[in-house]
Amino acid sequence: MRAEVRVLGIVQGVGFRPFIYRLATELKLKGYVRNRGDAGVEIVVEGDEDSVRSFIRRIEADKPPAAQISRLDAKLMEDKGGFEEFKILKSTEERGDAGSIIPPDMSVCENCLKEFFNPSNRRYRYYFITCTDCGPRYTIIERLPYDRPNTTMRGFPLCPQCLKEYTSPEDRRFHAQTVACPTCGPKAFLADRNGVEISCGDPFLEAGKLLAEGFILAIKGIGGFHIATSTVNPEPVRKLRKAKYREQKPFAIMARSLEAARTFAQVSSLEEKLLTSPERPIVLLKKSGEYYLAEEISPGLHNIGVMLPYTGLHYLLFEGARDEPALVMTSGNLPAEPIISDNKEAVEKLSGFVDYFLFHERRIAQPCDDSVVKSVDGKPVFIRRSRGYAPAPIKISDRLKRVAVAYGAEENVTACIAFNGKAFLSQYVGEVEKVEGVAYLERTVRRLLALTGVKPEVLACDLHPRFNSTLLARKHA
Ligand SMILES: [Zn+2]
Ligand SMILES: [Zn+2]
Repeated sequence: MRAEVRVLGIVQGVGFRPFIYRLATELKLKGYVRNRGDAGVEIVVEGDEDSVRSFIRRIEADKPPAAQISRLDAKLMEDKGGFEEFKILKSTEERGDAGSIIPPDMSVCENCLKEFFNPSNRRYRYYFITCTDCGPRYTIIERLPYDRPNTTMRGFPLCPQCLKEYTSPEDRRFHAQTVACPTCGPKAFLADRNGVEISCGDPFLEAGKLLAEGFILAIKGIGGFHIATSTVNPEPVRKLRKAKYREQKPFAIMARSLEAARTFAQVSSLEEKLLTSPERPIVLLKKSGEYYLAEEISPGLHNIGVMLPYTGLHYLLFEGARDEPALVMTSGNLPAEPIISDNKEAVEKLSGFVDYFLFHERRIAQPCDDSVVKSVDGKPVFIRRSRGYAPAPIKISDRLKRVAVAYGAEENVTACIAFNGKAFLSQYVGEVEKVEGVAYLERTVRRLLALTGVKPEVLACDLHPRFNSTLLARKHA
């Protein structure tokens, strides 16, 4: 029997092809799997009837943890023959089935962390350690299908050892597009406030030490820059507050660990689940009676926004910042401007109040701010839905018959593309009052359209005639 299968949903960039390969091989089926240009996956299998039927059943039942299947179409027919084995074929640019999208970024997984902390592993302390189950996705993809040449990892050719892992079906990095190691991956370096590289043994340990000493650093992460400093030393926090013109707005912090967070905040079981989830949002926690961090972080508030490390880079920073229970990690931007994601722009805009920069060489395709979640009556409520969640769709009524694009209003803007009962929300864009903000909104809308592969039929905007988002919608109309 032969089955021709199309799978839609979040099925690229989540280890889906390696999973299909292993499943087909286990069931002794022949054929192929490949990614499509519409973010879906195409599979053809041939073999005995029981195995083919069991294969189709197990696609849904045994799929990788980060995969989401929204539709699976399987056509069953007589064998056509012509296959000698099961193969992962080169991706096709073909499009046609709208509704799939690449996944959000995921925090570094447990398996990768074990290697990260193992001195005999070749990725010991490698800050960009990832596998098919974890790491950045949305922030590195430039075009579909999700293959390394279409991501910002394309500038880093695989070394022989990484290539071996990438091509070995039994390896957990089989077809992992973000695979890299200290030999072939992006490099990181420390720079002074003018962006001039400072040579030092380990830029992360050095950066961590500088943070603990009370300096302010701009740190390039996964979705953009963070501005970081100590949480126990009020002086740099005060300085930062003055520089960012945020007299009242609280700064988010990153705690070294869950245990460290419990020393200054109350953590319920739901909050613990959110903090340690692969999405790793900032969670608004109630300060505990023993709260001892600088009052200037969230002045006059009972709550504090806390997240946990979500990439190897963060763990290394804490190694350097030995006694810091947490670090201020606020979004690297100027007031009312979007998060900065480019090294050069960071120096231009932040050198006025930042003492050092910690850079890395990987470009960021889509900037993405951290998400913010709050527990309300035992349920998680989004304050900001961004990294870890965008651009995964949410279900909406399917009464909407046409493809709609929404542009948001003026503050806290998020773009949205809705069709077929799904709303694909962009990352947090923020304020669009300034030209930088509206340019970011435009880029975001275009990118989301390209990734979903749909043609807009209806544009939705605020009724305010002079909002930049309204003007942008008119321009696109
Ligand atoms: Zn991993
Ligand atoms: Zn390598």
